Amino acid sequence: MAENSPNYRYDPLIGELYLNKISCELTTRKFHNDLRREFEAILGAVAKSMFYTVGKVTGMIVAKYFDDIDVLSWMGWGVPLVKKDGSVEVKNSYMTMYRSEIGKKSCDIVAGFLAGWFSRKEKDNVDFIESRCASTTKFKTCRFERVEKNVAVEVPKIRMKKPREHLKNVNINLKPSSGEIIYRGDSSLIIPRGFTAIFQREFERVIGAVASRKMYEVVKKISYEAVVKEQGFRFIGLAILPKFIRAKLLLHEELVQLPERGFGNVRVLRLDLKEGILLEIDNSYNAFTYGKVGKPVCHTLAGVLAGGAKAVIGGDWECVENKCVAAGDGVCEFELKPA
Ligand SMILES: [Zn+2]
Ligand SMILES: [Zn+2]
Repeated sequence: MAENSPNYRYDPLIGELYLNKISCELTTRKFHNDLRREFEAILGAVAKSMFYTVGKVTGMIVAKYFDDIDVLSWMGWGVPLVKKDGSVEVKNSYMTMYRSEIGKKSCDIVAGFLAGWFSRKEKDNVDFIESRCASTTKFKTCRFERVEKNVAVEVPKIRMKKPREHLKNVNINLKPSSGEIIYRGDSSLIIPRGFTAIFQREFERVIGAVASRKMYEVVKKISYEAVVKEQGFRFIGLAILPKFIRAKLLLHEELVQLPERGFGNVRVLRLDLKEGILLEIDNSYNAFTYGKVGKPVCHTLAGVLAGGAKAVIGGDWECVENKCVAAGDGVCEFELKPA
């Protein structure tokens, strides 16, 4: 199954994004760097092993669908270069955005990805460690070396939907020399569908029941910042518009972007600034692979919606998930209300 070049396409009916045959989630480099920093602040050193594990599962999943490790740059993770001694250099690794953190290696998730990739390709348990990182400013590339660590990871059963006939192109531009992909002006990131659920379950395992609230709060905060800083240019002049019009603009963006990002398909059930905004989302990326756990699980999606509302409509907003596929409902339903 050789894949020589990337195709970025989505299924508008179910809001699913595909990189060639693999179903994906599309976020931004900044979002993931922020996510890492927030979780390191909460978990300390434990965060490093958590990111490594999530990376390793991701590498194993991606290696099932692709033959060439160049797929790393198609995903916007940086440019990989495999050396003769088995070590790997990655130019412009996506986790090196905050170069102010001098002396701190930041690419555990990339080390994990390489471990997962080579474990599947070599049918043996392989582990990597980052021996030098571009975040430390001394070097331009990150270097990853093989180590005896024996971090066995279980790959969750993921039944990816096969791409259907009527897929549409998503406007994503690959910059092969820097291993970046650009979507709507932002340096973006592709991860396999199910990544968020894997990350969330790891986090729940580490900190227990408070994980749900934390996930929501962290994602709300960084989504708000992302919309204000990264997409702010599209909302110039927003402040002079009535709130109702701003809410309409927000929902318009969400109807376009959420399916293209592979987050699911959205319908607006109610638009009322006092009573609240009611949305229904089919095929939520967040609930994907969760199975039936008897409660709502789409905390990151709720955080994205609340952060977006705060940034675009103004004032503070909270989002509650009333129904969820993981709770046994047919769709996920979200209600946004002024805080
Ligand atoms: Zn690095
Ligand atoms: Zn849900």
